[in-house]
Amino acid sequence: MKLHEYQSKRIFAEYGIPIPRGDVAATPVEAREIAKELGGPVVIKSQVLVGGRGKAGGVKLAKTPDEAEQVAKKILGMDIKGLTVEKVLVDQAADIRDEIYLGVVIDRARQKPVIIASAEGGVEIEEVARVNPEAIIRLPVDIRMGLMDFQARDLAFGLGLKRDHVNQFVRIVKGLYQAFINTDASLAEINPLVVTGEDSLLAVDGKIVLDDNALYRHPDLAELRDKQEETPAEREARAAGLSYVKLDGEIGCMVNGAGLAMATMDIVKHYGGEPANFLDIGGGAKADKVAAALRIILSDPKVKAVLFNIFGGITRCDEVAKGILAALEEVNTNVPMVARLVGTNEEEGRQILAAASFPSASTLGEAAEKVVALAKGA
Ligand code: GDP
Ligand code: MN
Repeated sequence: MKLHEYQSKRIFAEYGIPIPRGDVAATPVEAREIAKELGGPVVIKSQVLVGGRGKAGGVKLAKTPDEAEQVAKKILGMDIKGLTVEKVLVDQAADIRDEIYLGVVIDRARQKPVIIASAEGGVEIEEVARVNPEAIIRLPVDIRMGLMDFQARDLAFGLGLKRDHVNQFVRIVKGLYQAFINTDASLAEINPLVVTGEDSLLAVDGKIVLDDNALYRHPDLAELRDKQEETPAEREARAAGLSYVKLDGEIGCMVNGAGLAMATMDIVKHYGGEPANFLDIGGGAKADKVAAALRIILSDPKVKAVLFNIFGGITRCDEVAKGILAALEEVNTNVPMVARLVGTNEEEGRQILAAASFPSASTLGEAAEKVVALAKGA
């Protein structure tokens, strides 16, 4: 789950990271009021959950409260990479002398958090990695020891910071690391961390991505979820406890188990089809969950055929068969389907489907071949 810039920066501030003064506005008049309150030039920043807002015209300076109102009027309602701007952050404008990149991510290969820093901040770090990879410093951190002062100082020197900035930088990077750990984040990023004309460091932009699997430990953070981040189908899937990822193909797949779901997608591709989604209904799914999953799959208008691939272990094939039929009563559809049920109670499951003239297949290959043919209108 992604947090907005203003939410991320408020968390950073709790960890002693200096952020500009500012507040969030949902209307141009509110933006004007905030600008008046702050006094002096401000920066109006679209709050949408994508990067590169600056390039897209979603970050603009304003010298006066009047101008702040005008700029906010332009940015609010704007479409940035498919997302509508509903809020803007009005911050005291920083006098930027230098832009640094500073982030913490999980390095899965090293199984550690890694601090990433670059003196080439401001632009997207992926871009720096592509054109100037040697400008990026990586520092893996041992979670038992945490980030040590000497490591943070090394990082400061590596970035070529002036001596006066080193202590402040050490506090910021330690604060960022602690915020990352304490919120169970998968990413905590300041880009840019700037050196201002007043010769101090300031976090001008902030981004936190939280680990969804740890959100139950942070009910206060879970509440910050922006509905825009998810499609209605994704929201329903989360509420039903299903893992669902929408894809671009035409074959809906309902599978129990993540590995089996991936294998199913491979097989569909092998037979010349394109999967419309990844969907794992999990172990022990009962009829109501199957129905929810089918509703979600069919809510995608691109879906031309649906494949059920169920390996009955804890999940019982007869339960799934009943679920499929119950779901079909509820969602009226002409989309053709085929099921492959094996494992616990497979005979019962197949009989239930056969009695309802629902096509099934005995092997995954056969099922994939059939569903691809069905999608092509055969
Ligand atoms: P992003 O494009 O979504 O990453 O949004 P940022 O908040 O990082 O803003 C993009 C760029 O706008 C920054 O890299 C800065 O160059 C510029 N910018 C942002 N805030 C300020 C500010 O307060 N003053 C000035 N002069 N420039 C700013
Ligand atoms: Mn940025």
